[in-house]
Amino acid sequence: MTVAEPIAFHQCLSCGAIDAACIDTCAKCLETNMARIEVAGTGTLASWTTIRKPPLRFKADGVYHVAVVDLDCGIRVTGRLLHEEGDLIGERVIAVPCAADSHASPTFRVWRDA
Ligand SMILES: [Zn+2]
Repeated sequence: MTVAEPIAFHQCLSCGAIDAACIDTCAKCLETNMARIEVAGTGTLASWTTIRKPPLRFKADGVYHVAVVDLDCGIRVTGRLLHEEGDLIGERVIAVPCAADSHASPTFRVWRDA
């Protein structure tokens, strides 16, 4: 059994808005009452693509894959995808530890029993 990595967000304690960025001020209500929360890193693969010509800051990563994931908690996020042949939109994905520290976004892979 593989355990999904939790994913961190910042939530406004005044209005409840959730933001993926590490921010001090809520973009919705402008209050400065933000708290770090973690949600389960499990969800559904909504879309993915391959970046063959990375921007300069990710050039060392070479070719990589980016996923759009609908987390089970109802939040849609983007992150890296450890793509394998046959991965399909709509499949279950889990967040996994990321070896590269060049990016702060979560890393996902399609969850398979075997
Ligand atoms: Zn707010």
